[in-house]
Amino acid sequence: MYNVKSLKAEEFIDNQEILDTIEYAEANKNNFELIEELLEKARPVKTAEGCTCKGLTHREASVLLACEEPKYIEKMYEVAQEIKDAFYGNRIVLFAPLYLSNYCVNGCVYCPYHAKNKHIGRKKLTQEEVKAEVIALQDMGHKRLAIEAGEDPVNNPIEYILECINTIYSIHHKNGDIRRVNVNIAATTVENYRKLKEAGIGTYILFQETYNKKSYEELHPTGPKHDYAYHTEAMDRAMEGGIDDVGLGVLFGLESYKYEFAGLLMHAEHLEAVHGVGPHTISVPRVKHADDIDPEAFDNSIPDEMFTKIAACIRIAVPYTGMIISTRESEEVRRKMLQVGISQVSGGSRTSVGGYTEEERPHDTEQFDVSDQRTLDEVVRWLMETGHIPSFCTACYRAGRTGDRFMALCKSGQILNCCHPNALMTLTEYLVDYASEETREVGYKMIEDELKKIPKENVRKIALENIEAIKNSDRRDF
Ligand code: SAM
Repeated sequence: MYNVKSLKAEEFIDNQEILDTIEYAEANKNNFELIEELLEKARPVKTAEGCTCKGLTHREASVLLACEEPKYIEKMYEVAQEIKDAFYGNRIVLFAPLYLSNYCVNGCVYCPYHAKNKHIGRKKLTQEEVKAEVIALQDMGHKRLAIEAGEDPVNNPIEYILECINTIYSIHHKNGDIRRVNVNIAATTVENYRKLKEAGIGTYILFQETYNKKSYEELHPTGPKHDYAYHTEAMDRAMEGGIDDVGLGVLFGLESYKYEFAGLLMHAEHLEAVHGVGPHTISVPRVKHADDIDPEAFDNSIPDEMFTKIAACIRIAVPYTGMIISTRESEEVRRKMLQVGISQVSGGSRTSVGGYTEEERPHDTEQFDVSDQRTLDEVVRWLMETGHIPSFCTACYRAGRTGDRFMALCKSGQILNCCHPNALMTLTEYLVDYASEETREVGYKMIEDELKKIPKENVRKIALENIEAIKNSDRRDF
């Protein structure tokens, strides 16, 4: 049907194929024989080396998404959880967004940073301010950041972004170095992606917003972001510039979720076919209320149940891809999403430029309302109380295991002997350095129980020794 490799992202993620997929899914939504077959195909299978999963194509996964039969929806949740357990275990990686600048020349109609919004305070952090924000984040216990900025070649040129990254990595404060800086900035050139790679970024994240070209052009009426092809091909340029880990996402609520779902999976298929490695992460943001923005204006909002089903179907279709949920969502929604495959959450987030150094949560430069307003300590405790290990580990990245090398580790199913102990060690660091008494108590108990799950005796022994050493203030580099 398609020669995936020879097509550009924009050509491959074709409007007609997406419409045909939706039609095919609708026609098969009660084909329970097919649905059973797909769920069986998607299940993780144990191999001599570890574990493997076939995933599903965009057409197959769209059939699952279309199915409304409660019995099969429950099965989807089960398979999603099985996949998550097989490749990621019960670890949940934590991060925080850091807003550098809200200057923006684009006209995105859903975003309060849009150039015509005159009542939002425009602000760009100086390097001194970046330092203060980072220290505030380090004092909470964060080790991973996702930097965010509007698109403005004059106020936020690539040199500014690079300078900020450099500043962030150069701050050695108490025990709290930031070990991975992910970057969420507008689509740019191969040359600029190369510069970001040289600056040592982690994942390059760019949300497609919508895969429907016509809607995309209407939602982005002015500014460089208006160019659909340039935006859609950004990940190919990023990979050409040497960035191994790229993060996809759509802004749910702008267009029909069925359309976005198929488009997102086709994008992942394109990256896998052309670059030999799929997306490192997929984010699932939903449009939120914000200054000058009325979410009601977008009539494609999705109820929580459907949102959970979308996440489960993504988990099933692309089993090795990390999945991210932000504080746009409430505690309740985040709890449900954790059960169907989410592997990264933000915590203690502020979405305003300079927000972390303010006493009170500021609203004047905020990008969107934050639903989950708990502190990082509260989120960490909650994760543990719901059976998850909060992980601050960045070992893969620092050991050069990115792109296909990360995927190979993930596929080897060796997480219980590798990622699991690392997560426990970095959690101990967090508990010793930053946690409240209450959280520390819950954490030490959890670590004790989780250590028993490490299959290899020698690994268990080393992990235990390291954990004791950390408790006695001896730091190693995890
Ligand atoms: N400026 C860059 C760009 O245009 O891709 C990236 C940074 S922007 C701060 C990050 C993301 O915030 C956007 O890609 C968009 O999906 C999301 N966003 C914008 N307005 C939003 C809203 N009202 N509610 C929720 N998310 C929103």
